[in-house]
Amino acid sequence: MSVKIARYSGFCFGVKRAIKIALEASKTNLEIVTLGPIIHNPQMVAKLEQEGVKHVNSIEELKGRPTIIRSHGVGRDIMENLRRQNVEIIDATCPYVSKTQDVARELSEDGYRVIILGDKDHPEVTALRSYVRGDVIIVNNAEELKSDEFGRVGLIAQTTKSSKDFKELIEVLTPLCSELKVVNTICNATGVRQNATLRLARESDLMIVVGGRNSSNTKMLAKISENFVETYHIETAGEINAKWFKNKENIGLTAGASTPDWIIVEVYNKINECKGNVESRVNRVEDIPGFKEEK
Ligand code: SF4
Repeated sequence: MSVKIARYSGFCFGVKRAIKIALEASKTNLEIVTLGPIIHNPQMVAKLEQEGVKHVNSIEELKGRPTIIRSHGVGRDIMENLRRQNVEIIDATCPYVSKTQDVARELSEDGYRVIILGDKDHPEVTALRSYVRGDVIIVNNAEELKSDEFGRVGLIAQTTKSSKDFKELIEVLTPLCSELKVVNTICNATGVRQNATLRLARESDLMIVVGGRNSSNTKMLAKISENFVETYHIETAGEINAKWFKNKENIGLTAGASTPDWIIVEVYNKINECKGNVESRVNRVEDIPGFKEEK
């Protein structure tokens, strides 16, 4: 039996950066909080809490403490509110997310009607919409678009959407707009993880997708994999059922951009344990066959 990991798996640049910022902040003697969970991974959030970085869900709960802004960013109104209250802001917003916010603002200031391909309830998208001056339309796929004459449209996407959905939306929109300005704001880290997962799913008998159930990029990896092969989306090694691997020879493993290395390693070791391959144990994600570090 072989267990291989998708070439690009686990923490992306923006998440690594946010966790580093939070861990550095935890070394000060100050009480630090994050506004909302710093990333969509409950195990990492719990680990940070052990290091003294708590998370709160509203501005009212901050009580003047230095506040880390999570990788998904927060709305313009919230940033302004924090500044008004003189709260010390430790900004861990991913630079690619900040860039998308800037694009949204610029398109609307230039008179484009902004359409966002994204999940309207996702924190990144709720924050993003606040940067649009005026009207905004949010759709999760091309089918959700109500047929209309749209005039001058500026199209952007939540950073974790699939390129396929983005292309489909462009095709549907093109005949409906007098002008369509497309800015591809899908993050490269998302694309490379999706492609690597797709390739591995094609050659595997079973896929394990590891990451938070609240992580949209992990859910997307599971959705892609399900199109090809039996797939299980889990958060931790404790959820693995040895029966899944009966008569399966090629096991594929992939992990969302917010899944910590130590969880991926535990899952890899557990799969091998289920198949009686204890000698294949690893201590680092870099040692899992197939892994390639992102530059
Ligand atoms: S997926 Fe991309 S945009 Fe999102 S946090 Fe990671 S690097 Fe940033």
